[in-house]
Amino acid sequence: MNRLKIAIQKSGRLNEKSRSLLAECGIKFPNGTGLLKTSARNFPVDILFLRDDDIPQYVEQQVADIGILGENVVYEKNRNVSTLEKLGFANCRLSLAIPGEDRFTGPEYFNNKRIATSHPRLLSEYLSANSISARIEEISGSVEIAPGIGLADAICDIVSSGSTLDTNGLREVITILDSQAVIIGNKDLDDEKKAILAKLLFRIRAVKRSNENKYILLNAPESAVGEICRILPGIKSPTILPLAEKGWCSLHSVVREDDFWERIDQLRKAGAEGILVIPIEKMIL
Ligand code: ATP
Ligand code: MG
Repeated sequence: MNRLKIAIQKSGRLNEKSRSLLAECGIKFPNGTGLLKTSARNFPVDILFLRDDDIPQYVEQQVADIGILGENVVYEKNRNVSTLEKLGFANCRLSLAIPGEDRFTGPEYFNNKRIATSHPRLLSEYLSANSISARIEEISGSVEIAPGIGLADAICDIVSSGSTLDTNGLREVITILDSQAVIIGNKDLDDEKKAILAKLLFRIRAVKRSNENKYILLNAPESAVGEICRILPGIKSPTILPLAEKGWCSLHSVVREDDFWERIDQLRKAGAEGILVIPIEKMIL
């Protein structure tokens, strides 16, 4: 029987999240380190462990059918593959950073500068779009030390909190690209593989939704229910159950993780009490 081949990062920042995403989709596979390839026991997929830089090429050539990696690498490698789903983890940005003490005047600052990066393609696109002439020093890792050792005047690198830049005396000045982990796929999958992929994407979406939402339960006086329903729209609408105490009820609903604290404040103001917030295991609409 046909099996879908999924490429994930062998080791590094995406490895653990990629494995746990597949595990949360109910896909069971051996967990040995040092493996290059493994087969799931209960779902028709094989997992290949690769360097993230190689995944776009392998997916284009169908060595793997799909792959999980950062958008930054997808755009940098610019291979003929489709992006199938954003995954909401490994959020970061590709930014230009300069020595902290330098005055920044705008993009023209970079004219005639040497910029170290492991994203030469994206950097050179940015530079040409802004008519800047700079020299690109391509290096494969530890980009942030390049100015300190005299290899470059500035860098173009992945940033999330900015603490690595701080430690190296650098200051972020321009963001070129926002990135997160995505699934890419080969454009020519046969029908059997497409069917496996559709099943997998269905599960991934359910997991993603559950991570983005929380289940909320609260008590409120009946007089506050109208206002609380406006604050908590729910998937269809909130569930309302009467409490043993007259004039009170319990409301159940779903809130988004990203505006969750906002909602809690509004609910308390509206008269909600005994608020419980519970993680959702899977969410299927
Ligand atoms: P490989 O050995 O597979 O080539 P790598 O060293 O190129 O790994 P990692 O540092 O493991 O890559 O990062 C993998 C991806 O994780 C990056 O391409 C980016 O999408 C994302 N990423 C990198 N740094 C961060 C960060 N600080 N915060 C969030 N995501 C990040
Ligand atoms: Mg890499």
